[in-house]
Amino acid sequence: MSHRLERLREQLFVNGEAGFDASLISQKENRRYLSGFTGSAGFLLISEKSAILATDFRYIEQAKSQAPDYKTLQTEGDPSRWLPELISSLKVKRVGVEANDLSIATYRRLVAATGPKSEIVPTEGIVESLRAEKDDGEREFILKAVEISDDAFEEFTSLLRPGMTEKEAAWQIERLLREKGSEGVPFDAIVASGPNSALPHHHPTDRAMLTGEPVVIDMGARVAGYSSDLSRTICLGNEDKKFGKIYDLVLGAQLTAIATIEAGMNGEQADGLARTVIEQGGYGENFGHGLGHGIGLAAHEAPHLGRGSEDVLAEGMVFTIEPGIYINGWGGVRIEDVVILEQGRVKVLSRARKIN
Ligand code: ZN
Repeated sequence: MSHRLERLREQLFVNGEAGFDASLISQKENRRYLSGFTGSAGFLLISEKSAILATDFRYIEQAKSQAPDYKTLQTEGDPSRWLPELISSLKVKRVGVEANDLSIATYRRLVAATGPKSEIVPTEGIVESLRAEKDDGEREFILKAVEISDDAFEEFTSLLRPGMTEKEAAWQIERLLREKGSEGVPFDAIVASGPNSALPHHHPTDRAMLTGEPVVIDMGARVAGYSSDLSRTICLGNEDKKFGKIYDLVLGAQLTAIATIEAGMNGEQADGLARTVIEQGGYGENFGHGLGHGIGLAAHEAPHLGRGSEDVLAEGMVFTIEPGIYINGWGGVRIEDVVILEQGRVKVLSRARKIN
């Protein structure tokens, strides 16, 4: 973890562009990424010279053993109760906080408690941008998670029968993921059949799956905190013409993105490569979400691949490529793989079969 701390310090204090002299990290994946501490409550206070992990009684022993690079501090309650004293003892004046995580109530209390001598500075996306490029250890965990979800998907397809309900199917998927070594599941598995598959984030119901209709499966595994994310669309029994047409269009868009995304593009350009294919096929209106998202300690993280995204794709980033077409009343098709940018190009990590 110490090299991550150094990278953050370099960005914040050595390059000197941060505009503050300590950073309070509250977001849970950021906290874990920088310290190794996996507890559900705690704060990191990082300045150029010190690194402190503040947590409560429940986690203090765990913090000491998981985060040896940090000095641990046992605290109680909201940071407004202990941060002012801590920053004055460290002679720190301007403290960056994570605006995407800290609640407005906590921020207000903190501003009131620190008073005019210090300043609380809202920041966004600093640690998230470090997290986007994966190091070797992280890549191994993600690859393992991808393998587990690939294997679970393969085995699941041999159990899938018409008449099985979405809920039964989702349970089989989660059972297989866990039996193959996933630490719980990073998100509830999606099984969406027939018209339900037109809803990208449908929750499994008691609906029984029928032959000849699309079934969208979206599932992930977790290894050492790192997630995978896999979507496949299958058709039980004979597929109708429409399914074949929509499926081929989505697959064409996905393969185009895989073949043409390059390091240096931004998230909007990458998204556009797949979106153009779907638009030219006449279904642009039916691809209502972005092309993909970064994946790591969080199932959705930077970079974002979608319209309006200026995130620049760089070597070592791991993200999903998942175009989809959704048609109200009929259903939908989504195909999703996890990929890594290596030597400037996309390398696909997922191995699960795409053709029915
Ligand atoms: Zn996804």
